[in-house]
Amino acid sequence: MKVTQLNGVGPALTSKLEKLGLYTVQDLLFHLPSRYQDRTRLVPLHALRPKSACLIEGQITSCSLQRGRRVSLHVSISNNGVTLGLRFMHFHANQAKSFSTGRNIRCFGEIRPGPQGLEMVHPEYVLFDDEPPALADRLTPIYPTTEGLSLTRMGQLISLAWQQLEQGSITLKELLPRQLITQYQLPSLEQSLKQLHYPSLNQDLNQLQTQVTPAKLRLVLEELIAHQLTLSRAKQQSQQLAALAFLVKQGLEQALIKNLPFQLTNAQQRVWQEISDDLGTPMPMVRMVQGDVGSGKTVLAALAACRAIDNGCQVAVLAPTEILAEQHLHSFSQWFEPLDIHVVWLTGKQKAQKKRQSLATIASGEGQVIVGTHALFQEAVHYQHLGLVIIDEQHRFGVAQRHSLVKKAPPGSGLHQLVMTATPIPRTLAMSAYGDLDHSVIDELPPGRKPINSVLLNNIRRADVIERIHQACNSGQQVYWICPLIEASEVLQCEAAQDTAALLIQQLDNINVGLVHGRLSGAEKAEVMAGFKAGKIQLLVATTVVEVGVDVPNANLMVIDNAERLGLAQLHQLRGRVGRGQAQSHCLFMYQAPLSAMGRERLDILRQSNDGFVIAEKDLQLRGPGEVLGTRQAGTIGLRVADLMRDAHLLPAVKVIAEGYTPYPEKTAQLILRWIGNNQAFAKI
Ligand code: ADP
Ligand code: MG
Repeated sequence: MKVTQLNGVGPALTSKLEKLGLYTVQDLLFHLPSRYQDRTRLVPLHALRPKSACLIEGQITSCSLQRGRRVSLHVSISNNGVTLGLRFMHFHANQAKSFSTGRNIRCFGEIRPGPQGLEMVHPEYVLFDDEPPALADRLTPIYPTTEGLSLTRMGQLISLAWQQLEQGSITLKELLPRQLITQYQLPSLEQSLKQLHYPSLNQDLNQLQTQVTPAKLRLVLEELIAHQLTLSRAKQQSQQLAALAFLVKQGLEQALIKNLPFQLTNAQQRVWQEISDDLGTPMPMVRMVQGDVGSGKTVLAALAACRAIDNGCQVAVLAPTEILAEQHLHSFSQWFEPLDIHVVWLTGKQKAQKKRQSLATIASGEGQVIVGTHALFQEAVHYQHLGLVIIDEQHRFGVAQRHSLVKKAPPGSGLHQLVMTATPIPRTLAMSAYGDLDHSVIDELPPGRKPINSVLLNNIRRADVIERIHQACNSGQQVYWICPLIEASEVLQCEAAQDTAALLIQQLDNINVGLVHGRLSGAEKAEVMAGFKAGKIQLLVATTVVEVGVDVPNANLMVIDNAERLGLAQLHQLRGRVGRGQAQSHCLFMYQAPLSAMGRERLDILRQSNDGFVIAEKDLQLRGPGEVLGTRQAGTIGLRVADLMRDAHLLPAVKVIAEGYTPYPEKTAQLILRWIGNNQAFAKI
């Protein structure tokens, strides 16, 4: 039953619902609250806690404009001798007038520490003179919505959907195995959904949000199984068509190894063996290689490329950013030129004529290794005989994007995929986020690397830091200075890379300062990076564009400004740009005081550990999976009731249960449709 069959649902509303992946009445029933609010009771002003959202009431005692960085409206209210401030940044003149002293106000909002004690910023409110408005009689579910679709409207739609269910116009099919239901004593699907949409009266908010009741467990299991099934389907689809089994030939591969100035580490050899085994069979490889920053993943990619070329195939090397792609172009060209392998460059920013040239060489098969960005899987690109795809920093790409590249294989043929990532993904997350990939881990760094010495520094010590840079540069070393944002933002107080560079140029005589940020053109960036690589630029001021892939062993000091603003994984990636040479390296994490307790704890983790896996696990505990994987990936996971941290212990069981669905493709499809839907990146592949 389509949503359009509900009363009052026209084309405008339909398209908003579609944005949320809601097409049918049944979809509405599975659109679950992301959280709840308690509007059933008033919280006395003396009992307010920062960061909690609550309902309060009081009498207006004053209303005034306050000047700060911008004008805001400040309303004081009081109740039983306790006062609280309300603050409005955006307001109309009429609104300001309506807050007259003596009137009563009821507000719902989040309590935050303000300049003058606790306050509520932009609460929802009603003014009243005599009769107070009624309290809610149950917890208020908060549904994910989209622009132009109010929470109230969403609530109404969901009750309409319930009516249809109760009238029997739609039914909910049982898709879980009977044995599972008995084993966990799960309630019916209808009961379970009802409890989440309409929590029973007086249920405790905290319990509801954190506890996994049998009703919730049922839904969590369904969702995790659906997720697992999607991943297995993705894997099946990428392995549906046979790929070319690459034979081991004593050609390029041996030559490459012979030319390397180093020996592969044991971990590299082991992972190469795993890759090599995969490549030798007609079953397409779908393997992810995880390895900490600097563990030497690129050379494995190069070896795999040699194997493919030895077997007459082309290789596409995909990177998420121009800088990283550039870096690969550099490494690959250096290794491949002596072997007479033709490397081609293809990015979106390339000039039309150059691009045409690249496209022609790719189509003719003359180009053997094609390095580039997203441009690699655009429609205009025709490969003569693509046999292997190498994707660096997988977490920047969705599953769907990866598959659009796989479609570039010769008709009727599969493709080997090698994915590399330096973002160490804790096991539980890897199982869920990348369940469609086989995994290899490079758990060893090349010999001779000295652990980076990391220090936390208050921003007020800038002068000392600048002096230290002076000394380092004068003694022939190179330095990175990282600024998290490109322009100074008043609110975030981040340093602008431009301003910082200007300032550093002023303060550092005779030091060559370069600047690189995302707004430079590809050619401009390349020029600066080449200058740094060649040692002409001594101090490189950069935004986080240098996060991945940049390799300048002579740089052994890094300063990261406003480190408290960045995620731990990102800081670890950045820091991995130093510590690549023989000299002892240092990383200075500068922060803007005051640092919150959580902020200090996070930065301390970095100070104490150089191990990406340890850092990722801790980050996961502190911030949750969405943040750790980055928004893009979190979007593709998009869990509604399950919580990967809380429910991690269920994953092994879920994997087994999902395997039991193999004989039931119909049920599998229905479960995926129910939980993942049609419109998600996953389902399209
Ligand atoms: P990442 O895994 O971060 O992509 P890279 O592949 O860029 O790391 O390698 C980092 C540096 O280590 C490069 O300069 C590379 O040439 C070097 N390297 C790779 N493997 C070895 C090894 N086995 N011994 C010594 N140096 C190595
Ligand atoms: Mg790399």
